[in-house]
Amino acid sequence: MTTTYRAEGVPYPPDAPASQALFDRASAIVPGGVNSPVRAFRAVGGTPRFMSSGQGPWLTDADGRRYVDLVCSWGPLLHGHAHPEIVTAVQEAAARGTSFGTPTAGEVDLAEEIVRRTPIDEVRLVNSGTEATMTAIRLARGFTGRAKVVKFAGCYHGHVDALLAAAGSGLATLGLPDSPGVTGAATAETIVLPYNDVAAVEAAFAENGTEIAAIITEAAAGNMGVVPPREGFNQRLAEIAHAHGALLIVDEVMTGFRVSAGGWAGLDPVDADLFTFGKVMGGGLPAAAFGGRREIMSRLAPAGPVYQAGTLSGNPLACAAGLASLRLADETAYKRLDELATTVGALASAALTAAGVAHRLSYAGNMFSIFFTETEVVDYDSAKTQDAAAFKGFFHEMLARGVYLPPSAFESWFVSTALDDAALEQIAAALPHAARAAGSKA
Ligand SMILES: *Cc1c(COP(=O)(O)O)cnc(C)c1O
Repeated sequence: MTTTYRAEGVPYPPDAPASQALFDRASAIVPGGVNSPVRAFRAVGGTPRFMSSGQGPWLTDADGRRYVDLVCSWGPLLHGHAHPEIVTAVQEAAARGTSFGTPTAGEVDLAEEIVRRTPIDEVRLVNSGTEATMTAIRLARGFTGRAKVVKFAGCYHGHVDALLAAAGSGLATLGLPDSPGVTGAATAETIVLPYNDVAAVEAAFAENGTEIAAIITEAAAGNMGVVPPREGFNQRLAEIAHAHGALLIVDEVMTGFRVSAGGWAGLDPVDADLFTFGKVMGGGLPAAAFGGRREIMSRLAPAGPVYQAGTLSGNPLACAAGLASLRLADETAYKRLDELATTVGALASAALTAAGVAHRLSYAGNMFSIFFTETEVVDYDSAKTQDAAAFKGFFHEMLARGVYLPPSAFESWFVSTALDDAALEQIAAALPHAARAAGSKA
């Protein structure tokens, strides 16, 4: 299919025939037509766009329409699409063989790069963020001999049964499953607390202190929209956990190697016992990891008794892509990502202000999102004060004008170093129209 460019000032039509045809085929045989729920556009309506290629900051869909990509595969694509060095690394690895089921040098290279950048002593490579957090919880329980886990409402750690409990306001809601199929037994040991609320954590430990294995928290919350931890919050969690013989697990699957060379911990050091990583460290291929203090990691099989395994863990292609991506992620890259995030956020906020749309611009490093609310957002309850209809109007107008945003108001926007002047101009041109669309829906 030839690429169709949007004529100056003319939006793409609302229907997307080629994407619709693919979505119809998919919907007949794949639940909801997608392999991960948020791709389905349920929060915003309309036809999910099936992408056929990406180059630098641009995505091209099945109808041949081009979009500036502000999703970046939900974070991993720090350097944009099809970066030549990452493509070459993957091609060369594939030519050597795709998987061996034995250790390989690439795994050691990637593991060393991760350990060098982070406070951890040892690391284990896995295939997805879900696996990383699931195993970190198992390891924390195995290490402490305790069962309970504290998590925060609105923090997402993958679809681990025990962590699919986010509901419930109030101070210390004992976890109720969010999804059918997750048994009460799986979440009975999960304590869900409001994010950024130290007093709630202290109260939970006062009551259950000897039974809690770990606190798990997003290094900076990015799955209820971007909500940074209050100053000192993460370190306070470490202190409370340690005072009670529990561990702190900091989930850097989204922030790791994205917001700085050392992830969120590089900006806001914390005495965590375990960290989880994913997304950026795979360079767009499936790779994730967890790691921490040697004393804890050495309890993992085959060094210790806590079991974990994976047929494709440390896959040579994923390690090659991840390593190439991390090697490109130097201080210059992070400086540029920070500048781009500041620029795009400021453009969006200015357009919304000009259109009279109430909003809050919220950053955690170079991750940011816009909450369509007047309320200061510090946790899940305040994030939920958003005007969903306003976001919907905003999203579709940006899409029609060639800017691909996350199709949900509760997600981070992601920049890549590939964003160039042409891409920024397309964003700047789209924003005033989108802001007016948000205003008329509000
Ligand atoms: C994306 C994400 C996960 C889950 O990772 P998957 O690779 O999708 O399983 C876990 N934790 C956080 C903070 C994430 O953003």
